[in-house]
Order: sequence, then structure tokens, then C-alpha cells
Amino acid sequence: MIKEIGSLEKIKTEILSCKKCPLYKTRNHPVIGEGSSRAKIMFCGEAPGYNEDKTGRPFCGAAGKILDELLESTGIKREEVFVTNILKDRPPGNRDPKKEEIEACGPYLDRQIEIIKPEVICTLGNFSTAYIFQKYGLKDQIQGISKIHGKVFKVTFTSNFGVGVKSIKIIPLYHPAVATYNINMKEVLKRDFRALKNL
Ligand code: URA
Repeated sequence: MIKEIGSLEKIKTEILSCKKCPLYKTRNHPVIGEGSSRAKIMFCGEAPGYNEDKTGRPFCGAAGKILDELLESTGIKREEVFVTNILKDRPPGNRDPKKEEIEACGPYLDRQIEIIKPEVICTLGNFSTAYIFQKYGLKDQIQGISKIHGKVFKVTFTSNFGVGVKSIKIIPLYHPAVATYNINMKEVLKRDFRALKNL
């Protein structure tokens, strides 16, 4: 059966009134995602932080600055890609996402992917890597991000939402926030972004 995907606008409306998990009670703004609806590359982080919650925009704080720098270093414009997170609401105090929050919010990400149809998904950090790997049948290849960062995983899959076999490339990356507390990691991230550009 073909499930209803809706449109990016419809997803936004649903998220604005979402009460599927308790995070709506403590958030200021949900962070839905931003960028081109026809992006070939999608970046998926973990969850909004303090600045994102304040503004409703993904990766607009310290980690976002690093992401912008990395994009610029590869000549990719931020408006050409789509940037989002697994969780659309900020977990209080930036704690790790809970399993039930990921289960509640993940379907929004699934639908965003289905509408945008990116050729490449770059997962930022362990949580989004685990979610996307599981979604695309790569569960047995889930390892710590230090082991798999920068590698390209090509997957062929049948869409849950429609018919036809499709393929997608998944590239796990370190979360840009690592470079805010370990400057050496910026070089590692830059190298991985160069690999992305070479695709
Ligand atoms: N960290 C994330 O994972 N996502 C954001 O949007 C900001 C910081």
C-alpha cells in the first residue's frame, strides 16, 4: 500500500502541532529543516540545540558555523543542499535523543527524504548514522563513527511509499560539533567533505 507522504509544507504544518512525544512542551520552535526541496545532498544531524530552538533554523549555532565552513571549503552552497535533524524539537539541556522520541519523529524525516529524493545522505554523528543505516538495511554495518566516517555506502532499496527500486549513497560523517572542542577534527571533516565533493 502506498502511504501518504504529503508535501514539505504539510509536514511542516504537522510538526508545528505535533504532540507525539513530550518534547513539544519544552521547545520554543521546532526545527523542521531548511534548503532546496530538490537537493541532491541531504545532511541529517541529531536534534536542535539552544540556538536552533531559539530561531527554528537547523545548524545555526557553533556547529552550524563549522558546517558552513566545510560546505564552503568544498564549493557547495548551503542553499543547494537540505539540512535537517532526526528530532525536530530540542531535547532539554541538549541531552541525547531517547528511543521513543526517535520513533515518534523519525517518520517526518522519512517523508522529507521521500519528497526530496536526495542522491546522497550525509549523516552527522552517531544517532543519525544509526537511524539512516537501520532505515536502509545497513544495520549490521553500524559501527562507531570513528570507524566508518567518510566511507560511501551505496544502497539499493524499494521505497515504502511507492513502487520501484532506487539507489542512494549514504556517507556517515563526524558531527561538526566535534571540531568545536577538538580543532584537529576539522581537518578530518574537511577530508571527508572533499570525498563528498569527489562523488
Ligand atoms: N546539532 C545538531 O545535531 N543539529 C542542529 O541543528 C544543531 C546542532
